[in-house]
Amino acid sequence: MELLKKKILDEAGVEEGHILKVDSFLNHQLDIAFLNEVGKEFKRLFNDNNITKILTLETSGIAIASIAAQYFNVPVVFAKKIETKNLDKETYDSDVYSYTKGRTYKIRVSKKYILPEDRILIIDDFLANAQAALGLMDIINKAGAKLEGIGIVIEKGFQDGGELLRKKGVNLQSLVIIDSLEENNIKFR
Ligand code: 5GP
Repeated sequence: MELLKKKILDEAGVEEGHILKVDSFLNHQLDIAFLNEVGKEFKRLFNDNNITKILTLETSGIAIASIAAQYFNVPVVFAKKIETKNLDKETYDSDVYSYTKGRTYKIRVSKKYILPEDRILIIDDFLANAQAALGLMDIINKAGAKLEGIGIVIEKGFQDGGELLRKKGVNLQSLVIIDSLEENNIKFR
């Protein structure tokens, strides 16, 4: 997606540990006009999949998933990372290792919101080692629902998540793939 490449080149920063910082449009401030274009692109890519629900992870996936959901006309469900007293007792759980935080955490979705008849599109901001995606896929599996595809805004092609998911036969669509962040130089595939 050319607009996304331009946005990354104009606005992103590279942090230690091969972390791309996109706070000005995706992870802190949200550029809604731009996110609408991202939403339309996901709709074009998954138009034929009869998606019934979009699944993401709190916090950073929620904005992108919500904007995309308007084009699919389906609800968004976000897996919760934080245990709260008011979350339903009956949940599907999975463990996710966070590359950016360096620790494992539990994600949960109420059993009410993923049903066996659901055809699910996972949407997230980044794909690195696919830990978040695998956790969400585990929850879809436990619910007996069908994974239709995974839409990622920025795939870090130098980490192994993309290859792992494609080898599993997942319909993975990344709007851009970054092959290198060496010396603060952003190289696209
Ligand atoms: P994975 O689970 O695929 O290993 O990592 C994806 C998750 O880690 C994303 O949901 C995102 O929150 C975070 N992440 C991984 N790499 C980056 C990065 O370079 N920049 C930012 N902002 N987040 C990242």
